[in-house]
Amino acid sequence: MATGTAFTEAEKWEFSMNSENIRLSTFNDWPFDDDCLCAPSKMAAAGFYHIPTDQHPDLVRCYVCLNELEGWEPDDDPWAEHKRLHPNCDLVKIMKNRKSLDEITVKEFLDLECKRQQNRIRAQIEERVKEFRQQAARVRRQMELL
Ligand SMILES: [Zn+2]
Repeated sequence: MATGTAFTEAEKWEFSMNSENIRLSTFNDWPFDDDCLCAPSKMAAAGFYHIPTDQHPDLVRCYVCLNELEGWEPDDDPWAEHKRLHPNCDLVKIMKNRKSLDEITVKEFLDLECKRQQNRIRAQIEERVKEFRQQAARVRRQMELL
């Protein structure tokens, strides 16, 4: 019987992305090398980890806001893109006057974890609402046929 506190392997993997080194290890098949502005080390430092798909080989996700970005160019600056496209990300806000994630305090790290979990739960709820609306639309169409 599930206890509700047990985490799936996918959730454990996702949780580990608060480590820059672990984020960096996801960029094995990253299509850009270290000469590019969007080099793996810079992507990981800007909060991203690599989640490639067949259609989107350069898809990345921010470990805090969970937004996904793709369509990278060699001269794209990961922090600049993160700030431009997701200015309300709590990681972007906390890094406003800092050069590296090494500069944040333990309290800030824990605050980021809280925001990250809120974002994760919000995304799950939005997915459930979407599924419910699709189901309701299907039932409505069936009732109209009666
Ligand atoms: Zn973000």
